[in-house]
Amino acid sequence: MKATIAEVKNYVGREVTIGAWLANKRSSGKIQFLELRDGTGYIQGVILKNEVSEKDWEEARELTQESSLYVTGTVREDKRAPSGFELTVSSVEPIQIANDYPITPKEHGVEFLMDHRHLWLRSSRQHAILRIRNMVIKATYDFFNDHGFIKVDPPILTGSSAEGTTDLFHTKYFDRDAYLSQSGQLYMEAAAMAFGKVFSFGPAFRAEKSKTRRHLIEFWMIEPEMAFVDHEENLKVQENYVAYIVQEVLKNCQPELKTIGRDTSKLEKIKAPFPRITYDQAIEFLKEQGFDDIEWGDDFGSPHETAIAERFEVPVFVTEYPTEVKAFYMKPVPGREEVVLCADLLAPEGYGEIIGGSQRIDDLELMEERYRQFHLTDPSYEWYLELRKYGSVPHSGFGLGLERAIAWICGLEHIREAIPFPRLLNRIYP
Ligand code: ATP
Ligand code: MG
Ligand code: MG
Ligand code: MG
Repeated sequence: MKATIAEVKNYVGREVTIGAWLANKRSSGKIQFLELRDGTGYIQGVILKNEVSEKDWEEARELTQESSLYVTGTVREDKRAPSGFELTVSSVEPIQIANDYPITPKEHGVEFLMDHRHLWLRSSRQHAILRIRNMVIKATYDFFNDHGFIKVDPPILTGSSAEGTTDLFHTKYFDRDAYLSQSGQLYMEAAAMAFGKVFSFGPAFRAEKSKTRRHLIEFWMIEPEMAFVDHEENLKVQENYVAYIVQEVLKNCQPELKTIGRDTSKLEKIKAPFPRITYDQAIEFLKEQGFDDIEWGDDFGSPHETAIAERFEVPVFVTEYPTEVKAFYMKPVPGREEVVLCADLLAPEGYGEIIGGSQRIDDLELMEERYRQFHLTDPSYEWYLELRKYGSVPHSGFGLGLERAIAWICGLEHIREAIPFPRLLNRIYP
């Protein structure tokens, strides 16, 4: 019977064959212990010299780290084993003997590990992080589907930029110019006018020459957009969504959280609603804390976001930023045109902005004025203006950076571990 390691619990006392890689090996005289992994989990295979053929015993002895094999044995329950099960091996069939696997159990530098990312993914820590990523993606689809959202996919190649032309990857589109998408935002607004509540999950590209622990060149964004939804309702969706993904990870990923040594007591506190402070209050607070590198009207940098969020154990919304620092499509606060109806959600523990969202301008005349102010004369923006001509309605949305959220949920030192093949300022290999 073929089985995966995750499935062995269904076969106690029976013989199974598992396709696996050798993670580690120990032996003492007449016993060999094989630590096996197959992507679904780990199990120890025990080989007793007297119970297997001479050939199997010798073949097992030749197995090196990351050699691939089929192993057949009887599943035994074992309370002391990390997985709760053990395999009493009856035969081994090597597929390939791996020679000089570069990632040994000893310590390696980050650059070395990044050069070997294609192999590093096999380590128990990387494996655990990416399983948590998978759980967050599943929880995202579940949450939005359960709340009546339709998934709509915006284009990745675009003829225009959503929020200014700096930081855009330029490419050729036959004999025209095109850009890699920085955000699906504008298209999601069109989708919301067609379907009411929509969300997207796709890659975003930013040619940012910044080298921070929070920025990737290529990252994945979740972008919900909702018709007939105001700023207040938008924040409620965000806090319920973020609390939901954290609770789902806690519910389903305890072994992974343990593998990476995450302090789960911090995550257990993540429940909606989240606190809110205005941009004005945040500036006042930073001044009190002695920050003299920020004035009203500036966007926050990482140290500012960290200082603001440090006061809270759960994510905090900072609302009503100056119009100047935000995108052209955000709706002004009624009676206070210098600030907009927006919010950034800052994660605790110094992980910075995980969500940026806002109420969108739905008034045609105001949008036309913004087009003039921002010099949006490019004909590729015309379709977006038309959304305000044909049945414009109040609408809001937000964008969550998946890797930012994963870095926080997993407590990572650097965002590079939150994506299988990170693209960084100096790295596009492997
Ligand atoms: P930041 O201020 O951190 O540079 P941003 O305000 O430029 O972020 P938005 O345009 O609001 O980012 O994008 C929405 C979300 O996408 C952010 O809240 C963040 O979670 C994520 N994000 C933005 N830029 C990056 C990046 N370079 N790498 C990873 N995630 C990012
Ligand atoms: Mg940015
Ligand atoms: Mg920002
Ligand atoms: Mg933002």
